[in-house]
Amino acid sequence: MRAMQQSPDLDPTLPATMPIAGHIDPVPVPRPGLVDGVTPREDGRVDLIGLTKKQIAAVFETAGLDAKAAKLRAKQVFHWLYHRGVTDFEAMTDIAKTMRPWLSERFFIGRPEIVEAQVSSDGTRKWLLRTADGHDFEMVFIPDADRGTLCVSSQVGCTLNCRFCHTGTMRLVRNLTPGEIVGQVMLARDALGEWPNSMQRPRTDGSLGGGDLRQSGAMLPEAPAFAGAQVEGAGGQGNSWDNDEDEAAYTADGRLLTNIVMMGMGEPLYNFDNVRDALKLVMDGDGLALSKRRITLSTSGIVPLMARAGEEIGVNLAVSLHAVTKDVRDEIVPINRKYGIEELLQACADYPGSSNARRITFEYVMLKDKNDSDADARELVRLIKQYKLPAKVNLIPFNPWEGAAYECSTPERIRRFSSIVFEAGISAPVRTPRGRDIDAACGQLKTSAEKKSRAELDRLAEEKMAALD
Ligand code: SAH
Ligand code: SF4
Repeated sequence: MRAMQQSPDLDPTLPATMPIAGHIDPVPVPRPGLVDGVTPREDGRVDLIGLTKKQIAAVFETAGLDAKAAKLRAKQVFHWLYHRGVTDFEAMTDIAKTMRPWLSERFFIGRPEIVEAQVSSDGTRKWLLRTADGHDFEMVFIPDADRGTLCVSSQVGCTLNCRFCHTGTMRLVRNLTPGEIVGQVMLARDALGEWPNSMQRPRTDGSLGGGDLRQSGAMLPEAPAFAGAQVEGAGGQGNSWDNDEDEAAYTADGRLLTNIVMMGMGEPLYNFDNVRDALKLVMDGDGLALSKRRITLSTSGIVPLMARAGEEIGVNLAVSLHAVTKDVRDEIVPINRKYGIEELLQACADYPGSSNARRITFEYVMLKDKNDSDADARELVRLIKQYKLPAKVNLIPFNPWEGAAYECSTPERIRRFSSIVFEAGISAPVRTPRGRDIDAACGQLKTSAEKKSRAELDRLAEEKMAALD
């Protein structure tokens, strides 16, 4: 607490200009000027999350640093932000103490706001997140024995209207920014306490998903990542972690979060630039340093952008095929009326970087009496062979939602479909639905709870299709 100060009014010896106790004269802080693609927050500060090293250097320069200093500081800050996950400039120990307030007055290290965190009985976690301008979206984490997959959203809502998908019943509200996309991965690393050489313990207040994952033996009995002194021996600044940068690379070994799938809300290829820029930060060795082989982008089949995705992003490709005849695909994945099956499969055959070692995944939702016959399975095999695709097929049992017009195929039907594809030499595992009890499974994501009637859904579908022409 401050020492009591005498009121200047009572002491005639004090100069008339004596500042009033507690009053701080506003010191004008030069704000970073506008840099292309960077919008300051309402408080005038610029959120650095989502910016590239070059953009960080540019905002530092417009805030008053000379070009050389801006470049050097950007390199340091970039590392702290994306590689080490710090959320406070004070933690950036190789930046002069006097410079840290300069940074925090002008810049900000953001994360999407967590509105709600839920845990399924199978360990799947779902977070309801909110953008700074108040739009809600979702992110899901699916732990498995040998991997942990984060399902990341690219848009709030979706322009498309696949008829079995809950997100498809929402209008597109807006694209997520690179910061909001990479921010999901950063939030997950915060929650799991998985920053390389992290001195941050995972939060145990439940705000990031109901408790300390590291103590939840049920999820990962061996918990190899947790055994080391990096987590348990958090002795503060005095130990050597700050120096052993070589060990700071993020490896999947023993981690909870090992894979990313762009399979949350939205069609990632309709938010191409932001998804690409965010994934570049995720793949950057000095950033989140996750291998492109552990990242999969799923598209409903936006053919003209698929080659660019291969060239400019280079991650694994998953394609929501879901049907093998024009009639059925036109109905359930209506973008098929614009980009048909043949065009789509040709784009898959041309996808840069696919090979037998890096196969394209075809997602196929199992809908009772719609796309699940033996003939459908055989046609699927024929198409994959005709286009000589290095492919695997993921059979996804339909996840129901209130108001959906479809039912899930029976387990016997799904098994039969799988074995026909499998016997033709194509891997066709049946995906176990995860997190259904908290509406976290594929296609169940949708943030606003209002229910639409069948007629309203049909109207919305027509409207969405018309908007694409
Ligand atoms: N928009 C992209 C990625 C998000 S959807 C795309 O469509 O590929 C991720 C996967 O879940 C897609 O294959 C999608 O078709 C599937 N899916 C959507 N709703 C589903 C539901 N109700 N049950 C099962 N899978 C669903
Ligand atoms: Fe959009 Fe994908 Fe859902 Fe289709 S399946 S409506 S593209 S999120």
